[in-house]
Amino acid sequence: NSASKPPPTPSPLRFSKFFQSNMRILVTGGAGFIGSHLVDKLMENEKNEVIVVDNYFTGSKDNLKKWIGHPRFELIRHDVTEPLLIEVDQIYHLACPASPIFYKYNPVKTIKTNVIGTLNMLGLAKRVGARILLTSTSEVYGDPLVHPQDESYWGNVNPIGVRSCYDEGKRVAETLMFDYHRQHGIEIRIARIFNTYGPRMNIDDGRVVSNFIAQAIRNEPLTVQAPGTQTRSFCYVSDMVDGLIRLMEGENTGLSILGIQLINPDVKIAMVENTPDDPRQRKPDITKAKELLGWEPKIKLRDGLPLMEDDFRQRLGVPRKN
Ligand code: NAD
Ligand code: UDP
Ligand code: UDP
Repeated sequence: NSASKPPPTPSPLRFSKFFQSNMRILVTGGAGFIGSHLVDKLMENEKNEVIVVDNYFTGSKDNLKKWIGHPRFELIRHDVTEPLLIEVDQIYHLACPASPIFYKYNPVKTIKTNVIGTLNMLGLAKRVGARILLTSTSEVYGDPLVHPQDESYWGNVNPIGVRSCYDEGKRVAETLMFDYHRQHGIEIRIARIFNTYGPRMNIDDGRVVSNFIAQAIRNEPLTVQAPGTQTRSFCYVSDMVDGLIRLMEGENTGLSILGIQLINPDVKIAMVENTPDDPRQRKPDITKAKELLGWEPKIKLRDGLPLMEDDFRQRLGVPRKN
């Protein structure tokens, strides 16, 4: 008889919500470059509890060392291609290698991370009613035929090339986000991130800013990939994190955001071969981010690069000459 049954146990999330207004935030890929800066910012708010999930493929515990042991912080070694059962209010889903060297290293794994990983995080968001933000990429535009790129552009992507595991993987991840939104009413946010730079980037991850800074510090020639006329827009990591938090907290679902000073005057330039499918020009149209989020980058390249140089010099053990 039902009268003798115990009352249903509230879920841990509802239970904790009943007593406190802390926001429990999951950051997948939180041990990586952008993720660890995002964690630093989220931890500044005393009402936030932050849980990082990472498999340490390109990230490291070192990036989070100041938070390990903190009562509002938790670090879990976990691969997002496996299901994850936890209780959270918000999910920042960043887990995925971002550098071409790493995402091409095991392309099948990159696709699994983007597709199965995003599916799992959406399943989690659906089960617990969490809002989820995906860090997509300007690579969804491929080698763009429209310049600059705004959110309405569908892109020009090679589906079978060596970058496709990443580009097409992120495109499917975006599709999954919108289908979970339409079919299950999940609250979603998508940021199409353009090239971001700053301290804690992997020194040898092969991207242009990290390569040039490391090469200048090591007194090696700067490797300009042919033809050398391709263009990018660079965003300093603190501006990126600010944009991601505004997007998560704001009311707009699907919108894309965001988008040398000489370190060594003697440095030489070496023209080297380029990689296949390298986009020739890329620049975000950030009108919508400005209008809807009040966001625009504040840190100029000339101010951001020295901060990254300091970090690289420290890690490479090469002090600045005065
Ligand atoms: P990163 O490589 O430093 O960080 C990615 C993190 O995800 C790492 O800590 C890595 O260990 C983790 N990870 C990878 N696969 C995983 C898996 N299967 N399970 C769990 N963890 C996994 O890269 P980043 O520059 O910090 O990029 C973060 C996000 O932003 C990525 O989704 C990337 O696609 C996106 N993005 C970055 C840029 C950029 O310029 N840095 C540009 C566009 C998009
Ligand atoms: N999932 C997860 N954590 C959860 C809920 C779901 O990792 O808390 C995974 C689940 O294993 C599944 C995916 O998310 O592979 C999609 O879940 P959903 O419930 O949407 O679909 P279904 O389980 O019906 O395929
Ligand atoms: N690039 C370069 N030298 C390098 C690394 C990259 O000239 O040592 C060029 C590359 O061909 C591309 C641009 O810099 O046109 C940006 O490349 P990166 O890998 O940093 O990022 P992408 O925007 O291609 O993801």
